[in-house]
Amino acid sequence: MNSLPRLPPPGTEPVRTCVGCRARAPRSALVRVVLEAPGASRAAVDDRASAPGRGAWLHADQQCLDLAVRRRAFPRALRSAGPVDLDAVHAWFTDRSDAVIEEESGLEADGHPMSTQR
Ligand SMILES: [Zn+2]
Repeated sequence: MNSLPRLPPPGTEPVRTCVGCRARAPRSALVRVVLEAPGASRAAVDDRASAPGRGAWLHADQQCLDLAVRRRAFPRALRSAGPVDLDAVHAWFTDRSDAVIEEESGLEADGHPMSTQR
């Protein structure tokens, strides 16, 4: 049965430009940042890249976020009239790096995770 959804063949994925380092990359390699609502000043990461409106594309990399902030790329990319509040975006990027650190330090702090399980 040919019931698989029709996926675009590999190699034809749309390409976007990272607003931080300005490199071009396939959509799936970037995260999308959108305004929380049309005309809002707060931006958030659009994990599913499905929110309506304009989006700013960015590598999931703290350096690209910093670059984009420094060149004020977000208000331009999102067509915002004023400055864009990026707290939620910064938190999203911090969360990602925290997760890795927590995993490592958790192992060290706990020592023997099996000992409590008898
Ligand atoms: Zn980048």
